[in-house]
Amino acid sequence: MSFSDLGLAPELLRAIAEQGYTDPTPVQAQAIPPILQGQDVLAAAQTGTGKTAGFTLPMLQRLKEFANTSVSPARHPVRALILTPTRELAAQVQDSVKTYGKYIALRSAVVYGGVHIDPQIAELRAGVEILVATPGRLLDHLGQKTVNLSQVQFLVLDEGDRMLDMGFLPDIKRILSVLPAKRQSLLFSATYSDEIRGLVKQFLSNPVSIEVARRNSVIETVSHLVYKVEAAAKRDLLTHLIKSRDMRQVLVFCNTKIGANRLAYKLHKDGVGAAAIHSDRTQGERMQALAEFKEGKTKVLVATDIAARGLDIEQLPFVVNFDLPGSPEDYVHRVGRTGRAGLTGEAISLVSDEERDDLAAIEKLLKIKLPAQDPGQFERERIPAPRGASRRPQSRPEPRREEYRPEAHRAAPRSAAPSADPLFSRPYTSSSEETHTAKPAALTRGPKKQIAALFLPPGPAEKQGS
Ligand code: AMP
Repeated sequence: MSFSDLGLAPELLRAIAEQGYTDPTPVQAQAIPPILQGQDVLAAAQTGTGKTAGFTLPMLQRLKEFANTSVSPARHPVRALILTPTRELAAQVQDSVKTYGKYIALRSAVVYGGVHIDPQIAELRAGVEILVATPGRLLDHLGQKTVNLSQVQFLVLDEGDRMLDMGFLPDIKRILSVLPAKRQSLLFSATYSDEIRGLVKQFLSNPVSIEVARRNSVIETVSHLVYKVEAAAKRDLLTHLIKSRDMRQVLVFCNTKIGANRLAYKLHKDGVGAAAIHSDRTQGERMQALAEFKEGKTKVLVATDIAARGLDIEQLPFVVNFDLPGSPEDYVHRVGRTGRAGLTGEAISLVSDEERDDLAAIEKLLKIKLPAQDPGQFERERIPAPRGASRRPQSRPEPRREEYRPEAHRAAPRSAAPSADPLFSRPYTSSSEETHTAKPAALTRGPKKQIAALFLPPGPAEKQGS
């Protein structure tokens, strides 16, 4: 199937061709036709499956009739609203809207907190048809009457599960209460829960359900590997893995900001270029850390869950769980950072005795046993646990609602991703038909240019704790 078979307008096909995409991904093939027909859609789609284009392309087509180049704000009311949980994701979604809507005269804007509100007010006042927003800042605008949502006819709740996790349900309800009842609504969520089902009942009408990967499963192109290791020896093992396997680009997850800071500092001391991103870093620091990581100047980006949410890093080969996430759904989200757009990736988890229950919960959710590897005699010799080292995990879970200030990075134009991944080519099978087995870790990557590493010194979070 090609994009033109989906009935998309020539302006959109041109923009898609410029991105180098040849075929729609399964979520695009399934979501685009019902959205074009005006139906509500509930999509259980993993991150990395192409879901953003899955809702952006048909949205642009549905709004095309309103395209105009008038300077009058009255000719540009907000007609589509896209809500995302984090500022980073909001910025990325607006990038997609601009990329795919390049040849259609519709205006878009993104509003999120942590930055001055005045430029946003000026943009809204001039008129935009498509508004991408995080809930908190949108409520600020509604409170100040600097945005009018009375003509919204198209609503997208992106990463619905994450929005609920972050406690945004009351905010979402308040926002939806000011939208016209007659509208088309779409809900995208990586995982399903009873709360999500509740949201569906309240806000969607007779939705078409789409599921492109088994519920709560992880992308098939990701291979998983668990190292059982003492908490105190994790850092040495990580350094050893990075060096011995010559890993060039690794996203490492810690559960706390202080843990992320410490790990980045220690990796740096071990001669591995690392930077930390989390909500205590300034926007400038985060932008720099992310940019340098994307460019290959920094090998390791140590992040907390919220900071990494929605990051779209092309060809990210490795994700490491330095701490296992407290909630098994977060494993799905973390691992979704790699293996995107048909490329392969590897998820490595360093699991201490104390985290055994967390591992069991993840395996229960995924219905797979994650392949485990003993660090081996060689590593044991290299990584003796310090005498008297605490067996407690290094870090405690951080509060769920860490507000993330965006990197506000603008992704470089993306090139076509190879579609070797069966997820991209294989016909759709429902969750009940699918069997899922973890693949053993095996990955080869071409060498990348090695550039001097960046290290951001520990910030205020280290003093505060978390
Ligand atoms: P998403 O799941 O929306 O975050 O998209 C993941 C990645 O897939 C992004 O980098 C997109 O640019 C890329 N992508 C989206 N649609 C396609 C397609 N049809 N073919 C190849 N890559 C795509």
